[in-house]
Amino acid sequence: MTDHTLLTDNFQRPIEYLRLSVTDRCDLRCAYCMPEDFKGYEEPENWLTFDEIERLIGAFARLGVKRLRLTGGEPLLRRDLTGLAGRLSALPGIEDLSLSTNATHLDKHAQALRDNGISRINVSLDSLQRERIEKITGRDCLHKILAGLMAGKEAGLAPIKINMVALQGVNDDEIDSMVAFCIEHGFILRFIEAMPVGSTGREAQFLDLQPVKQRLQERFGLLEGVIPGGGPARYLKSADGKFSVGFITPISQHFCETCNRVRLAVDGTLYTCLGQDEKFEFRPLLRGGISDQGLEDAIRLAISLKPERHEFREEPRKIIRFMSSTGG
Ligand code: SF4
Repeated sequence: MTDHTLLTDNFQRPIEYLRLSVTDRCDLRCAYCMPEDFKGYEEPENWLTFDEIERLIGAFARLGVKRLRLTGGEPLLRRDLTGLAGRLSALPGIEDLSLSTNATHLDKHAQALRDNGISRINVSLDSLQRERIEKITGRDCLHKILAGLMAGKEAGLAPIKINMVALQGVNDDEIDSMVAFCIEHGFILRFIEAMPVGSTGREAQFLDLQPVKQRLQERFGLLEGVIPGGGPARYLKSADGKFSVGFITPISQHFCETCNRVRLAVDGTLYTCLGQDEKFEFRPLLRGGISDQGLEDAIRLAISLKPERHEFREEPRKIIRFMSSTGG
């Protein structure tokens, strides 16, 4: 008998948001994410094919997942990503399709992404200084990122959210200039605390965002606000609503109690929590001829593995994998 109840984990949290990593490759080497000499990529033959992705996401959508975010590594490195976007945005139940990108290739794809159902994007931008971006990402790429952002704006992707990983003594002196940049371009700025995911995350210069939030709230007279999107950010808004800034604070003030998401890696592994190792392998099932009902049952079993919360503070050495393997 088909069970149509929506996906809920063991802590009564509805799971309605899936982050899909379409590749673990990236053209950048952000210091808090992927080591410069990283070689542990997944073999392409183990990548889920577009048919397998469409079938699996279709099953998740039947069970209530309505938000889908394409991530990586850098998702725009996956060939024909816009084709995949078109297929996924057409799936019954998927109401919101978005993309997280470093924007270095966005100028070539922005319009096609828009035309294939991607409505909004998040762009990683940790500095507005050329040398500093090169230091953080390992590449001289600020000009490409800015060109990508402007192309995204031009194509009508909206909102465009800027993700800045705030690092103590690295880019925390640019918080005000990043605020000014986002006000000027109408981007929604989000500051993110570094997380101890992989050795790179553990070595990152963590910056507690609570004092930053308080300072900006006082300086701009910001009010608590809500921005659509279903993610973990807590937002502040200017009284005239023209400027919004979000804070993603997994360490100083976590948001696990309202977690609504899981992550599917490029090889079909479902990571039920960014800060834990509980996972479920879908590729063998997909390649083993599982039925649609069997797939839905497997999804429910996978979600039942989802832990209550991360232990970044208690066990900062726990997560070995790098952020690039699950797409943040
Ligand atoms: S750490 Fe895990 S439980 Fe907490 S918000 Fe992230 S994915 Fe959800």
